[in-house]
Amino acid sequence: MLLCYFEGSLFLMPELPEVETVARGLRRAILGRRILSVTLGKTDFIDDPAALEQHLPGRQIEAVERYGKFMLLRLSAVHGESRVASNGDAASASLLVHLGMTGQIAPSPAGQPLEKHTHVCLLLDDGRELRYTDARRFGRIAYLTKALLAEELTGFGADPLEVSKQEFAGRICGRRARIKALLLDQSVLRGVGNIYADESLWRARIHPARLGAKLSRKQAEILRRVLQDILRKAIVLRGSSISDFLDADGQPGEYQRHHRAYGREGKNCYRCKSLIRRAIVAGRSSYFCPRCQPSPRGFAALPLPGKSARKTKRRDAPPGSGQAPNAGKSLRRNGKSP
Ligand SMILES: [Zn+2]
Repeated sequence: MLLCYFEGSLFLMPELPEVETVARGLRRAILGRRILSVTLGKTDFIDDPAALEQHLPGRQIEAVERYGKFMLLRLSAVHGESRVASNGDAASASLLVHLGMTGQIAPSPAGQPLEKHTHVCLLLDDGRELRYTDARRFGRIAYLTKALLAEELTGFGADPLEVSKQEFAGRICGRRARIKALLLDQSVLRGVGNIYADESLWRARIHPARLGAKLSRKQAEILRRVLQDILRKAIVLRGSSISDFLDADGQPGEYQRHHRAYGREGKNCYRCKSLIRRAIVAGRSSYFCPRCQPSPRGFAALPLPGKSARKTKRRDAPPGSGQAPNAGKSLRRNGKSP
C-alpha cells in the first residue's frame, strides 16, 4: 500500500488521493488494535514526543480518517484508574500523521528488522508494530487532545469530494485570487495539490492564472465536477507514483498514466495537439494547454526550453518544486490565500 514520490531526486507532496489510499490501507490493517508501547527514533518532526510516549499506550485505534492531506488516527479513551491518575488525560484523542514528502506508515511484524529511517514504532496488541519511516522528515506527527484537535482543524476549507455546487461557487467565484492559488489554498479546499489542480483545470479548460472572480457559475460547476471525477478516479488507481521506485512492500499508484497536463511541458495536448506549456502561478509550476485554456490578457507562459536547456531547467525548477516542504500541514503556519 505504500507509495513513494520520487522523480529522480525529487519528492512530491502526497495529495488527497495518495493520502486516502494510505488511510484505506491502514483502516484494513490496524483498525481496532490497541497500542501497547511507543519507541521513537529521531523526533524533530513530532510536535511533542513525550506526549506520544505518555499518552498512546493503552489506547485503541478506533478509526482512521483522512482530513485534507493528513490522516487522523482516532484513539479511544484510556481505561484504568492508574493511567487516569498518572497523566490526568484519559479522554479520547487523536494522532495526526502527515506524510510530508517521503513519509510511509504501515504495520510490520515486530521481529522484522527496521527499515532505514524508521522513527516511530507503535507496538500493537497483535504482535505487529505500526512503523513510520521518513527519510527527509518533512512529515509531521502530533498527539492531539480534543481541544488541540479542534484548534488544528480550524480554518480548513471544504473537502473537495464533498463540497456542494453552491459552496464551491461561493468559495471560488468572487475571489480576486488566481484559480490555481484558490485550488491550492487549504483554507478554500483541503487536500488539492499541484498535480490534481493542473489536471482539473486542463479538463475544465480553465487557465490556471484566471481570477476566481472572472469564472462564471457554470465554469465553476464544471471545475467542481471534473475535480471530483479526477480525485475519485485517482483514488481507485491508488494515486500517482511519479517514478519507478517502490518500497519492497509497496504497489505503485497508477494515476500518473492518466495525467493530461501535469509534467507534460512541450508534449502534445491530448485534445488539440498544441504543445503543453508551463508557467509559474501561485509560486508553482503550472502546466496547461495554451489553446484549450486561453490565458488572461497579458499573462505569458515560460518559453519552451530546448532539449539541453530543459535538463538544466528541470534541475533548477522541477515540477512541484515551488511548494515549501511543510506547505499545507497546518493552517496556522501555511495555506493562506495570497
Ligand atoms: Zn489543447
